[in-house]
Amino acid sequence: MNKPTAPDSRAGAEQEQFLTVLSREEALARFESALFPRKPPAEERLLADALGLALAGDVVSQGDVPPFDRSNVDGFAVRSSDLARASEGSAVRLKLNGEVIACGTAPKLSLIEGTATAIATGGPIPRGADAVVMVEHTHPAGDGAIEIRRSATPGNFISYAGSDIARGETVLRAGTQIGSREIGMLAACGIARITVVKNPRVAIISTGDELVRPGEMLRPAAIYDTNGAIVAAAVAENGGEPFFLGAFPDDEAKLEAVMRDALSRYDMLILSGGTSKGEGDVSHRIVARLGKPGIVAHGVALKPGKPLCLAVCDSKPVVILPGFPTSAMFTFHDMIVPVLRRLAGLPPRNDAHVLATVPVRIASEIGRTEFVMVSLVEGDSGLIAYPSGKGSGAITSFAQADGFLKIDALADQMPAGTQVDVTLFTPHVKVPDLVIVGSHCTGLDIVTAPLAREGLSVRTISVGSLGGLAAARRGECDLAPIHLFDDKTDTYNTPFLMPGLELVVGYRRMQGIVFRAGDKRFEGLSAQGAVRAALEDPSCLMVNRNQGAGTRILIDRLLGEARPDGYWNQPRSHNAVAAAVAQHRADWGMTIAPVAHAAGLRFIPYAEEHYDFALVSARRQRPVVQAFLHALASSDVRKALAQAEFRPA
Ligand code: AMP
Ligand code: MG
Repeated sequence: MNKPTAPDSRAGAEQEQFLTVLSREEALARFESALFPRKPPAEERLLADALGLALAGDVVSQGDVPPFDRSNVDGFAVRSSDLARASEGSAVRLKLNGEVIACGTAPKLSLIEGTATAIATGGPIPRGADAVVMVEHTHPAGDGAIEIRRSATPGNFISYAGSDIARGETVLRAGTQIGSREIGMLAACGIARITVVKNPRVAIISTGDELVRPGEMLRPAAIYDTNGAIVAAAVAENGGEPFFLGAFPDDEAKLEAVMRDALSRYDMLILSGGTSKGEGDVSHRIVARLGKPGIVAHGVALKPGKPLCLAVCDSKPVVILPGFPTSAMFTFHDMIVPVLRRLAGLPPRNDAHVLATVPVRIASEIGRTEFVMVSLVEGDSGLIAYPSGKGSGAITSFAQADGFLKIDALADQMPAGTQVDVTLFTPHVKVPDLVIVGSHCTGLDIVTAPLAREGLSVRTISVGSLGGLAAARRGECDLAPIHLFDDKTDTYNTPFLMPGLELVVGYRRMQGIVFRAGDKRFEGLSAQGAVRAALEDPSCLMVNRNQGAGTRILIDRLLGEARPDGYWNQPRSHNAVAAAVAQHRADWGMTIAPVAHAAGLRFIPYAEEHYDFALVSARRQRPVVQAFLHALASSDVRKALAQAEFRPA
C-alpha cells in the first residue's frame, strides 16, 4: 500500500485541483472520453433473469406471429364466395364438415364449396376457407348444417400468419431495457434466452467519522449515513448492480485498503464525502494514487456539487460525490447517471419537462450553474415552481421536490415571475390537490391525515408565517398556516390578514420555558421565576428565537433589557431550541409543549400561541378545502390534536 504523502506536498496538489474548477460540460466530457468508447461486456441470460437489463444487440424474430392464419372469434370457417348472395331475406345453407377446430388442433379436412367448419378463437383456418362467421350470426339448420343470413368479406375475423410479428422483423433494438412488455414480445417469438449487457457491479462506500448506519443508536455529534442508501437505490434505478460496502471513518490507510479491494472486485466505485478541502477529507487523495489516468475532474462549477471528483483508475470509473446528501443525489443524477447508463448499455434518460413560473426571486452565485429543486403547485394562471428553501444540507429539498430548474452560471439571480423550464423527476407532473404554504407544525400532519386516507394529496411547503401569507395573497396556495403575534393589539393572526384572505381558527400551542430534568435552577418555578433565576446565574446559557417569531416577542418581554449569554443564538424553529437544550448547548429557551416533551425536557407553560390558517377566500368552495375544514372540525382530529398536546380552539 502507498504511504500517505507528506502534508505540505498534499496541500499543494489540492490547491491545484481546486484552482481548475471545470464547467459541468467540460468535466463530463473529460470523464466520458477517459472511459469510452468501450464495448460493454455482454452475457446470455434467461428471459426471467433479464428484467431491467439492456439488450446487447437487436433481436430479430425467427418465425411469424401468429405462426398460421388464425380465427379471431368462435364461429365457422367459410368460403366467402358461398355467402355472396346471403342476406336478411335470403339464407344460405352450409353443410358442416365433420371436425371442430379447437385451439391447438391442426385441421384435417379441406373446406369445399357449400361447407363450413366449426372453429374456436385461436384455431387455425383450414385449407379452402377464407373467412370466419361469428357463431352469433348463424342458426343451426338441422341435419348437420347451418344457415347464414349475411355475407362475409374475405379475411373476415382472420389474423394472418406474421400479421403481428413477421419472420425476420426486428422486434427489439439494442439498448432496450427489458420490462414485462419486452419479455412478452420475446416469449411470443419463442425466444428463451437473450444477450444483454452485463450490468455494472458498483461498489458504494460512505466516508466520514460522523456516520452511523440507519437502525443503530446515534452517538453525540453523529448523523445517519444517508448517502449509502440513496446511491445504492439510484444505481439500481439506472442499470447498475449496487454493492453497499458500508460507512467508513476518514482513516486514510484503512480507507485505501477498502478502496483498493473494491476496485479489484467491482466495475465501478462510488464514494461520498471527503472530497472537499477539509482536514479529514482523505478520499480524493487516495483516488489520486489508485490507478491510471486518475482524477480527470475535481471541482465542477455546479451548485450544489462543486467538490465532485471524477476519476478513471485502470479503466474503471471512480467517483467521489460531495457529502451533503442533496449535493450527492444531484451530482449523481446529473453527472454519474449518463455514464452509468452508458456502461449498462442503456440509452440516456429521457427526462420530462414542464414550464412553470417562479413566485419569488432566487439569488444565485455567479460562476456556477445552479440547480434549484422545486415543488410544483397549480397557481391561478398555470404551474408555479416553488424553490426548496432548505439548501444543500437538507435531504427534503431533494426528496420532496418534483424537479429542478437551472440558473445560468452567468446570472446572479432569477427574478420573481420568470417562466422557466423545470426538469421533472417523474414522467408526469403530479400537482397536489391541496397546497398549504406557511409555517409547519406536527399538528398539521394530524389535521391532514384523513385527507391522505381519502386519497387526496397534500403538499405542505414550509416558508414561515409571513412567507405563507405572501403566497396566499399571490394565489399560490389554498391555506397558509400562521402564528403571528401583534405586539400592539396583543392578538394573534387576525391583524395580519389581507383582502381576499379569511381566518380559519386552528388550534393553540402552549409555549413555555424548557430545561433539562434535574436542573435545580428551574425546578418548581413559574416562567417569570425561571427567567429571573437564569439571569441570576452568569454561567446559565440561553437559546433564543429568530427576530419576527411570535415566541421571540414573548422571550423579549420576559427578558426586558437583559441580554444574557446565548441571546444571539437564534434558531428558527421550536425543534432547534429543544435540541440545543437537550444537548447541553444551552440551558433554557422557549418552545412549545409537544416539542419539549418529545425531546424529553421539562416544560413550564407560559402563554398559548394561536396556530390558525389564512384561507384564500376564492378557494373556499374547492372540495379539497372543504375536506380540510371538515377534518379540522372533526371530533377524531380534535381528539388526536389534544392527545398530542395541542388545544383545538
Ligand atoms: P464532506 O464532503 O465529507 O466534507 O461532508 C459534507 C457534509 O455532508 C458533512 O456535513 C457530512 O456530515 C455530510 N455527509 C457526508 N457523508 C454523508 C452521508 N453518507 N450521509 C449523510 N451526510 C453525509
Ligand atoms: Mg466527511
